[in-house]
Amino acid sequence: MSHFDPAEFSRMLARLTPQELRQVEGIVAEARKRAEAVLEIDARAEAGGPASSCPRCGGDERIRWGRTRTGAQRWNCSGCGATWSGRSDTPLARVHRPDLVVALARDMIEAPQPMSCRRGAEVLDTSRHSIWRWRMTIIGALAPEPDGTLAGIVEADEAREPKGVAGVGPAPARSGQRPRAAALALARLPATDRGGHRVFEAITDAGQRAISGALLPVMARDAVLCTDGLATYARIARDERIPHFALNAGRRSKRTPRSHHINTVNALIGRFRTFMKPFCSPSAKNLAAYGRWHAARDNDQRDYLDVLRLLLASGPRANTVC
Ligand SMILES: [Zn+2]
Repeated sequence: MSHFDPAEFSRMLARLTPQELRQVEGIVAEARKRAEAVLEIDARAEAGGPASSCPRCGGDERIRWGRTRTGAQRWNCSGCGATWSGRSDTPLARVHRPDLVVALARDMIEAPQPMSCRRGAEVLDTSRHSIWRWRMTIIGALAPEPDGTLAGIVEADEAREPKGVAGVGPAPARSGQRPRAAALALARLPATDRGGHRVFEAITDAGQRAISGALLPVMARDAVLCTDGLATYARIARDERIPHFALNAGRRSKRTPRSHHINTVNALIGRFRTFMKPFCSPSAKNLAAYGRWHAARDNDQRDYLDVLRLLLASGPRANTVC
């Protein structure tokens, strides 16, 4: 369709069955998502935006200069003749297929289970290496998790990362079974409170120094600690005079109030494990990045356009992570 004729289009729609109309709705929703990404890119180059003046000479005199292959507005400087678009000076600047990066960001944030690098390479018809590099760039642009202090009832538990090939790592510890310190070589200490705050601190072992170093700086002084009963927590709580409730195997003792449990943090660990399953054991360095990625996905209002905005604002060389 070289020229869009609304009257002709609506006549065509009028001939469709209800089932076909539903299909059209899906196609339109998909196209609108793609168009929103282009609008986001265009907005940078509109008057007052960060890319509204010429990137070469800084001049403000410019004319519209057609559109890029992905549909973004291209501009031409009347002073020096340079052309640019809203994605100049962003990580998307010299990318051959920016639409694929946008599709990857959308999959990473909105898909129920994001694609593995291998699957991403097949679907987007590019190399696994490119997918991995882009994934890391996108994660690098994500805002760090808000460092809200955990308050009230704080739940903490150690989460061992499955090592080895995806999904073939050692079985996670059965509930109540305490992981040996040696098995915690690569671990996270997720902690949550009931206000929705969460932290996902990396710990090198399950020793008192590692756990208190991860936990104490993010906990309010008057918080109450609920844990799985690992002896280290009891020692930390005693030394720091923190009220502590140990729930061995998730069970309450007679003196534990009903509201004191570790279900919230265990649900978080469960979601993180499911999320990590398709990814070949990432290195300790990249594990923090995966934590940030999971945090960006782990809310009901997630929208990949927020992430695209962060990516466009992150500067042309945002290839470093963490
Ligand atoms: Zn210029």
